Amino acid sequence: MANFTEDQLAQLKTALQKRYLELQEEIHRELGHRVDEKNINLIDSRNIPDDIDIALVDRQINEMRELEISSKYLSELEFGDCIDCGEEIGFDRLIAYPSAQRCIQCQRRYEKAYPHESTSSL
Ligand SMILES: [Zn+2]
Repeated sequence: MANFTEDQLAQLKTALQKRYLELQEEIHRELGHRVDEKNINLIDSRNIPDDIDIALVDRQINEMRELEISSKYLSELEFGDCIDCGEEIGFDRLIAYPSAQRCIQCQRRYEKAYPHESTSSL
């Protein structure tokens, strides 16, 4: 795991949770009463009503899943390492994008290789 101070870890945890709650709220606002808040994790693009911006909700759900993975890494102290090269992702990048799974170099390479994939996690 990348070498963070206790203080940085606490900040990262807060940023993760904040982003997660924001996403949960956004999705809930878009889907309105159609989906129970506690069922948000069960949503996928196949059961979203037609009048909803599926691409947007899909992206938000994907980001939530990434945040869940990040939270898990954080609790297992494996957080902050790029999933491709194993180098540190960097504190500034993680604060800005708590769901980031790759360092900037690998993310750029990834986006070049898969230009149609979601860029929500940057
Ligand atoms: Zn990397």
